[in-house]
Amino acid sequence: MFESLKYIMEIQDKAKDIIYKTYYKINMTDEDIDIHNNSNSCYLYFQNFNKDNYKVKDHDHLKEKNNYRGPACNNCNIKCNKNKYFKLPVIAHNLKGYDSHFIFQYAGLLNRSISVIPLTDEKYLSFQIDNTIFLDSYQFTLCSLDKLVDGMNKSNNKELFKNFNEEFNNITDELNNLLR
Ligand SMILES: [Zn+2]
Repeated sequence: MFESLKYIMEIQDKAKDIIYKTYYKINMTDEDIDIHNNSNSCYLYFQNFNKDNYKVKDHDHLKEKNNYRGPACNNCNIKCNKNKYFKLPVIAHNLKGYDSHFIFQYAGLLNRSISVIPLTDEKYLSFQIDNTIFLDSYQFTLCSLDKLVDGMNKSNNKELFKNFNEEFNNITDELNNLLR
């Protein structure tokens, strides 16, 4: 488990590195420029701009083209820094009831910041190690993994897993079911 956690942290650090090093200049369409010039309130918190909290162009630094997000106030723009909003999601089924114990035994050894949303002393709804957030898919589906996979297998909908099947077209049916 400790090795797996270290591996997840490695992936997180690599992703973080790419995100922090990537900076594309703002690239707006004519429509964006119109929207920006005609707005008088922040698109994030809807308060009006003023002399101290003035209008700025918020843009996605990770996108090369059409990266304008909206007219933001200066305060919101500063708060929306990449460090705060980059999160790597790790999803486990029944994390709350079971898996979190195994992960948490080793989390402290990583020497990284940890925060939890506790349900009780022992059960955590979700927790975060650095920028990696651990979520419980059971909270969204309330169904066993076995039943979920079974339901998907019974469906003849060709649109399901279309991209997945195109990408992984050389694997056995068993592996296909497992990876879904
Ligand atoms: Zn704002």
